[in-house]
Amino acid sequence: MEKLALHGGKPVRSEPLNAPMLRGAFMSGEEETSRVTEVARSQAYFRYYGPNQLRCVEQLENQISQKFGVPYTLGVTSGTAALMVALKALGIGYGDKVIVPGNTFTATAGAVICSNAVPVYADMDDTLNLDPADLDRVMDEEVRAIIAVHINGQSADMDAIMAFARKHNVPVIEDVAQALGSKYKGQYTGSFGDINAFSFQMQKIITAGEGGAVTTRNSKLFERAVRYHDQGGFRDKGRYAFEEGFVHEPVVGLNYRMNEMTGAVLLEQWNRLDTIIGSMRRHHRRMQETLQAELPGIRFRRTIDEEGDICCVLGIIHPTRDNAAAFIKAINAENVFSWLMYGGKPIYLQPPLMNPKTLDKNNFPFDYPFKNPVVYKEGLCPNAEDLLSRVTLLPVGPHFTDEEVDQIIEAIVKVYRGLGLEAAVKA
Ligand SMILES: *Cc1c(COP(=O)(O)O)cnc(C)c1O
Repeated sequence: MEKLALHGGKPVRSEPLNAPMLRGAFMSGEEETSRVTEVARSQAYFRYYGPNQLRCVEQLENQISQKFGVPYTLGVTSGTAALMVALKALGIGYGDKVIVPGNTFTATAGAVICSNAVPVYADMDDTLNLDPADLDRVMDEEVRAIIAVHINGQSADMDAIMAFARKHNVPVIEDVAQALGSKYKGQYTGSFGDINAFSFQMQKIITAGEGGAVTTRNSKLFERAVRYHDQGGFRDKGRYAFEEGFVHEPVVGLNYRMNEMTGAVLLEQWNRLDTIIGSMRRHHRRMQETLQAELPGIRFRRTIDEEGDICCVLGIIHPTRDNAAAFIKAINAENVFSWLMYGGKPIYLQPPLMNPKTLDKNNFPFDYPFKNPVVYKEGLCPNAEDLLSRVTLLPVGPHFTDEEVDQIIEAIVKVYRGLGLEAAVKA
């Protein structure tokens, strides 16, 4: 048996993988450069006016709408901004609860709190997404929305989530930050919910460093989203086909407008989306198939829609948290990167959200006297607490070469055999 790098053997790779978590960023090139240069030459950096407008943000919005089959898309400054705008469009606020999966990035819950509502957490299953069977437990009459997060490239169970939401008459926000281009039963994510949030931050599938978008089929929600993101105003250029009942009243909003430089980069990144996803799928398939053949006991994250998965990470479910910890230590020594999702803990046990504390006087909005008090503590989502401690993730970069993918596979097999992990799986 080959000696593990952890025990002084030769590592599978001589150097760590290059920026393994970046996707679109690594695939950018001349096209992005020239499009950004065009914007700079035009001097029209602002989407709504300027000397020679190129309307990059508007073009991007149109392309997103077209591909995903939703009539309305709005570019914003970040995924967090997109969630804020979506929540505000729905009128979520003080005294409201919003169901959020126990397994998600801080921003999903943070946006709820900054919209003056309070998150309540539903458990997850071995898809690593929200378990629809747990929705009943967290539902009460103070819940005003559900956020369905598509974690790590895979769609949540949208049929079950939408059916539950319709039955209880609450809207759904899809958080598509980690899953741009993924599908559920042949339909793009971000086209199921009442209003949906996307991110183009540096680690996401396509990127301009920062950026976000909101999609909806509902013209009234769209108008509210536009207003909230543009200081309460609505710049009607005759390009939005509104139904009757258009609200012309000004409201108070903020500024979450996307600028033209961001729009320019994202227009070119958008053209690369299918290539990026195709490459990740190819690498992921080879990793999974080879590993399954070499290590018959290995267990991967379960998927409810294999074809719709954009395959941006490989998830391995270990039998114990000790096995997961040993795997991470050994594989990192081989210069192949692996980690526990969000430090191995659900979102409500992460420091910023555990207390929970805000910077506001009286700890607003947690000071609200809910009929059903909101308490965050260990044991809230037992499956999330258990699974997150023993699920390890491996990167699947679109920029990885076939040789790099081979090395990742080789390192996993080496570590499984070297640590006797396969025996543990089979036992
Ligand atoms: C990244 C992310 C966000 C926030 O996006 P930003 O653009 O970084 O604000 C929201 N939700 C999820 C699930 C994310 O992964």
